Amino acid sequence: MGPGPITVHPRVLQAMSAQLTGQYDPFMTATMAETQALYREVFVTANEATLLVDGTSRAGIEAALVSLVEPGDRVLVPRFGRFGHLLVEIAERCGAEVHVIDVPWGQVFAPEAIEAAVREVRPKVLAVVHGDTSTTVAQPLDALGAICREHDVLLYCDTTASLGGNAFLTDAWGLDAVSAGLQKCLGGPSGSAPVTLSPRAVEVIESRKSIEAGIRSPGDPVRADRIRSNYFDLGQVLDYWGPKRLNHHTEATTMLYGARECARVLLEEGLDASVARHRLHGDAMLAGVQGLGLTPFGDLAHRMTNVVGVEIPDGVVGDAVRAELLEDYGIEIGTSFGPLHGRVWRIGTMGYNARRDAVLTTLAALEAVLRRHGVAVPTAGGTEAAQGVYRAAA
Ligand SMILES: *Cc1c(COP(=O)(O)O)cnc(C)c1O
Repeated sequence: MGPGPITVHPRVLQAMSAQLTGQYDPFMTATMAETQALYREVFVTANEATLLVDGTSRAGIEAALVSLVEPGDRVLVPRFGRFGHLLVEIAERCGAEVHVIDVPWGQVFAPEAIEAAVREVRPKVLAVVHGDTSTTVAQPLDALGAICREHDVLLYCDTTASLGGNAFLTDAWGLDAVSAGLQKCLGGPSGSAPVTLSPRAVEVIESRKSIEAGIRSPGDPVRADRIRSNYFDLGQVLDYWGPKRLNHHTEATTMLYGARECARVLLEEGLDASVARHRLHGDAMLAGVQGLGLTPFGDLAHRMTNVVGVEIPDGVVGDAVRAELLEDYGIEIGTSFGPLHGRVWRIGTMGYNARRDAVLTTLAALEAVLRRHGVAVPTAGGTEAAQGVYRAAA
C-alpha cells in the first residue's frame, strides 16, 4: 500500500511467464504492434509514435528529453516535488539552459503562473510532472497545451504516477511527449516506459536522429546536433518499432508481455471505470485516515486519486510505525523525500491495490499500530469512515 511499486496484477505476472520469440518472428512484431495500439488507447491519443522504452520510468523521461533537447536549448520546469527535481537534473545533463519555477511541496501552479514564465523564458520545451507521488498532488494540464502552441513550445509530461488512475488526455490537452511506467496505477512491475510523441515532437526527433553505421546507409556525416545517446535516441527506437523494423536494441520481450497485459487489464475495465475505482478507494482511504484523527497533507483540491499523504503525528516516529506495519501485518506504506521525509506517510491505493479489502485492512492495522505508539485513535474510526464512503457510493 505504498506509493509504488505496488502489488502486481496476477494476470500481468502470468503473462510475463510466456515463452520468448525471436525479434523478427511475426508473433513478436504483431505483439509490438498490438501493444502500440493498446497504449494509444491508454494515452487517449492518435499518435502513431507510441511505443515502449525498455527501462524504468526514468528511462522514458530521459529518452524524451535527450531526444528533444539540444545543448543550449532552454527548458522550463515548473517544479512542485521530487520528480520535478529529476526533470531539472536530466534536462541539465542534456546540456539545456534550465529555468525553474517553484511552489511549496503539496501545492500546484496556476496556469497563469506557468504562462508568465513561458513568456519570460521562451523555452523550447516545457517539462512538467502530472502527478508527483512525492507530494500526492497533480498539476492540472488542460490549459498548458494551448499556452505551448501559442508560444511554439514543446510540452513534455511525466505521467508515471497518474496514468490509469486519474484522467489523462494526451491529444485533448495538447501534449507533445509523454512518458509513463507500469508500477503505479497500471498494476505492473517497473521496467518498461510507455511513451507517446506528437507529430511535432517526431519532426524534431527525426531531424536529429543519427545514422548507425552498418545498419543504415554507411558514411552519413555525424551532425553536431545529433541526439547524445544511442539507447535513448527515439528516432532510432521509432525506426525499430515502425514499419522499417530497423534493428536497435533487443526488445525486452518479457516486459513487452507485461506492458501489453497491463494495458489489456486496464482497457477491459475501461479508462473511466478505472479512474472511478481509484477515486472511490482513494476517497475511502482519505476518509479513513481522517477518521483516525490524522491530518491529510497537501492541497486536497488537487489530490491524486491514488495516493494519500498523511502528516505523521507529533511524537510518533514515522519509520517505526512503518516497520511495525510491515513486520506484523505485511503491509507497506511509504514516507516521502527531501523536506517531507519523516514528516508525512504516503499510502497508495493504486492498480491492483485499489480495492476495498486492501483499504479496510490497512486502516485496521494502522489503527492498531498507532494505538501501540501512544496515539489516541478512535476505535474503528478509520474503517467506519471508509465504510461510510463505500455506503454512500453504493
Ligand atoms: C514513481 C515515479 C517515477 C518512477 O521512476 P522509476 O524510474 O520507474 O523509478 C517517475 N516519475 C514519477 C512522477 C513517479 O511518481
